[in-house]
Amino acid sequence: MFTLIAGPCSVESRAQLLTTAGTVAAAGATMLRGGAYKPRTSPHSFQGLGRTGLALLAEARAETGLPVVTELTDLREIDAVLEVADVIQIGARNMQNYPLLTEVGRSGRPALLKRGPAATVDELLLAAEYILCEGNDAVTLCERGIRTFERSTRYTLDLSAVPVLKERTHLPVIVDPSHAAGRRELVKPLSLAAVAAGADGLIVEVHPDPAEALSDGPQALTTTEFAGFARAVLGLAASLQPVPHLAAA
Ligand code: PEP
Ligand code: MN
Repeated sequence: MFTLIAGPCSVESRAQLLTTAGTVAAAGATMLRGGAYKPRTSPHSFQGLGRTGLALLAEARAETGLPVVTELTDLREIDAVLEVADVIQIGARNMQNYPLLTEVGRSGRPALLKRGPAATVDELLLAAEYILCEGNDAVTLCERGIRTFERSTRYTLDLSAVPVLKERTHLPVIVDPSHAAGRRELVKPLSLAAVAAGADGLIVEVHPDPAEALSDGPQALTTTEFAGFARAVLGLAASLQPVPHLAAA
């Protein structure tokens, strides 16, 4: 089944999270994302609500029934994150944080491993190996854009990584068009392209009022536009399902 993970970049408030969670659930998202611990480029930027954010994620899950994907940035917080996260996100900046990968492996909890912005496909696969070799085989890989000379987008979405990874591993591969693009106008075309390239899912950022977002507002889809977005990508994903009698041939 195609996985559509949606929600805010950061958990900011109860109202912001519950509004977003309700909207994405109603539109057919299969999981809720939201960061309580934010790895920000500047130490002066919003760092996340921490444990308060985790408690809000638990509330949003109880209200919507959506499993929660949330990022672990610091081993000291692993027990708190394990109380809430159905899937632990390892962010791009931490793709090669080996102690973090090992502990997530030991925890046995499903992991979403994002490709570092300067990491090769080989390096991503070897990072995943740190989790796998602890006996945790529930690892999903995520292409979220890499650093190139191109400045018209925040990063360059390396869509070729999708079929390349699918050739090299049995692990599910999803795409994050939001961080790659850096602006919401590009999220839908990149998402459709990712689905066409064979991605097993998408993770996208959504906010009720992106202009007021405390992180990544310019790339967030609005809650108003999310239903149309979800219809388009889920429709394409469904239309690309293998036709049973041909798949068997
Ligand atoms: C995020 O998902 O909000 C995030 C920080 O992503 P990345 O680690 O890909 O930059
Ligand atoms: Mn973000």
